[in-house]
Amino acid sequence: MKYKRILLKLSGEALMGNRQYGIDPARLSEYANDIKEITEKGIEVAIVIGGGNIFRGVAGASNGMDRVQGDHMGMLATVINGLALQSALENADVPTRLQTAIHIEQVAEPFIRRKAMRHLEKGRVVIFGGGTGNPYFTTDSAAVLRAIEIEADVILKGTRVDGIYTADPEKDSKAIKFDHITFDDVLRKGLKVMDTTAFTLSQENELPIIVFDMNKKGNLLKVVSGENIGTKVNL
Ligand code: UDP
Repeated sequence: MKYKRILLKLSGEALMGNRQYGIDPARLSEYANDIKEITEKGIEVAIVIGGGNIFRGVAGASNGMDRVQGDHMGMLATVINGLALQSALENADVPTRLQTAIHIEQVAEPFIRRKAMRHLEKGRVVIFGGGTGNPYFTTDSAAVLRAIEIEADVILKGTRVDGIYTADPEKDSKAIKFDHITFDDVLRKGLKVMDTTAFTLSQENELPIIVFDMNKKGNLLKVVSGENIGTKVNL
């Protein structure tokens, strides 16, 4: 295996499957099985999950609302997704802990770095819910922050696109995929990988990012084995 400890970033939208909002249980269990497969190879897995599938569903309700209030709703949405993913992993017999950046202690452990690292060493999957715990941030920023804190080797950004392209491949049929690109080139070409705060945090800490298609079964294992799929961003 190429990596020992990884941080997997899943967007909330990825959990929707073909639905308009919410969680698709079939998709969730496919993800759980893919994650199980890599834990069985001895990979230590931490996960940051987004909230877009639930939050954007209620975004209408947050229209005209205070930004911070809306962001709190978004962070809680990521905790709901974290609980769902935890259940799916446990159904697949993968020991899992959910730690949250905002305290909900009856429901999940608070985020404690040393504890998280201990869980990982013991082979437990650790899900980080609640984003960074702060408004005005995204779960991509949470993913980079936690990855650095737990000393992950790489961030794996699982999406429904199989990498970074010269243009949006869903809109431009001439778009070409990069196998590898530097942080500087992503910025120079104005490509979108993560929001700027998250991206520069990753760059400054020399933490590589791999963008890949998480919806293809077995891809996660291929990425951690070092197979050249998706797009790798590094220095
Ligand atoms: N959020 C936040 N702080 C964080 C992470 C998330 O306030 O550190 C809120 C923010 O409102 C965001 C929402 O939670 O829009 C859901 O997260 P995100 O949009 O990153 O989820 P994804 O698009 O990955 O599903």
